[in-house]
Amino acid sequence: MKAQLVEKFRAAYGRVPEICAYAPGRIEFIGNHTDYNGGTVLGAALDRGVWVALAGRADARRQWISDQRPGRVMSDAKEGSKRSGLESWVNYPLGVLAALPEFGVASPAGFDFLAMSNLPSGAGLSSSAAIELSSALAFLEMAGSRPSRETVVKIGRHAENHFVGVPCGILDQGVSGFGQKNKLVWIDCRGPVFATVPLPAAVHFWIFNTHTKHALVDGLYAARHRECITAARALGVGLLVETSSTALAAAQANLAPESARRARHVVEEIARVALARTALEAGDLAAVGQLLTASHRSSQLLFENSTEELDFLVDALVASQEVFGARLTGGGFGGAVMALTSAAFGEAEAHVVAAAYRKKFGATPEILHAQTGDGAALI
Ligand code: ADP
Ligand code: MG
Repeated sequence: MKAQLVEKFRAAYGRVPEICAYAPGRIEFIGNHTDYNGGTVLGAALDRGVWVALAGRADARRQWISDQRPGRVMSDAKEGSKRSGLESWVNYPLGVLAALPEFGVASPAGFDFLAMSNLPSGAGLSSSAAIELSSALAFLEMAGSRPSRETVVKIGRHAENHFVGVPCGILDQGVSGFGQKNKLVWIDCRGPVFATVPLPAAVHFWIFNTHTKHALVDGLYAARHRECITAARALGVGLLVETSSTALAAAQANLAPESARRARHVVEEIARVALARTALEAGDLAAVGQLLTASHRSSQLLFENSTEELDFLVDALVASQEVFGARLTGGGFGGAVMALTSAAFGEAEAHVVAAAYRKKFGATPEILHAQTGDGAALI
């Protein structure tokens, strides 16, 4: 892919790039909305992502190109304000540049930038973290700084939280940064502490991207974030990770029903992450699959961040013998469903599910048979 990236850069700017970096997208394996509640989560880096190529300029001009977006965006090192409309994708790398001084690194001034991607964006597979981390590695290299992986992850998250304005937890950037082929990334989001868990060799991931995205998705994500904080406060804790099912049951009468549902989802989901890790280590894929599907049901009924389309896909998938479990992956309110399957689940089985979906909704989901892959790196 590097040769392709260099060629695109040369075609756009008439010279070769000085720095190239890559960061993958991710699957949220299990742990839905647990990260910003201080909980744990398991994710997998995909073998798909965003590549960034960069070359410095003598002046303070900045040129931005993405092979996923039309045209070229121009800016200047002196103005770092947010862009809107068709240019709004630049906010992700701009956010990284705005974050660098917070981490003691001076932002590079002028440069030519090109992003190339094979990851659907807006599907819940975290293309935003992929563009943030690949940009961060490239800008840091240009600034002559090679901080720890954890710092790169934090820079990416800072960009998304403070510049783009999405109050995401550490999951997306953490998995993109710490991913490894044939491993899951386990994160205790309070530290944060990162670890890897081997993935049994016999499993496959199938992702069904509905291309549906609730118009208010960012607002709904932020609303769930607020609801969790409200529930934690009502329970007398700082973060929902600090409460328990027992404490929750005892406080039930004093909680608004909505707060109780949100809190119950988070508390039980954190327990499911621990059970899934144990089941993975024991190689008990049937148990892992049941936990994945239980996670989806909880999103559907308690956290209320699923949709009719996502529920339909989960129902269709879990009806198949070859599917261990299925769930929405990512923030929800549209996006994608992932299924953990045996090797016996193939294109034919995936197309049966897609055909049933098309019959019901009149649209075809995009099917990705994904592998796990390595985390962000200079290339
Ligand atoms: P997700 O992270 O699940 O893909 P988000 O809404 O968080 O969804 O992020 C998607 C946004 O990230 C896109 O709308 C775009 O602004 C930006 N983005 C991601 N990948 C690219 C890319 N290759 N080129 C340009 N912008 C990208
Ligand atoms: Mg994102």
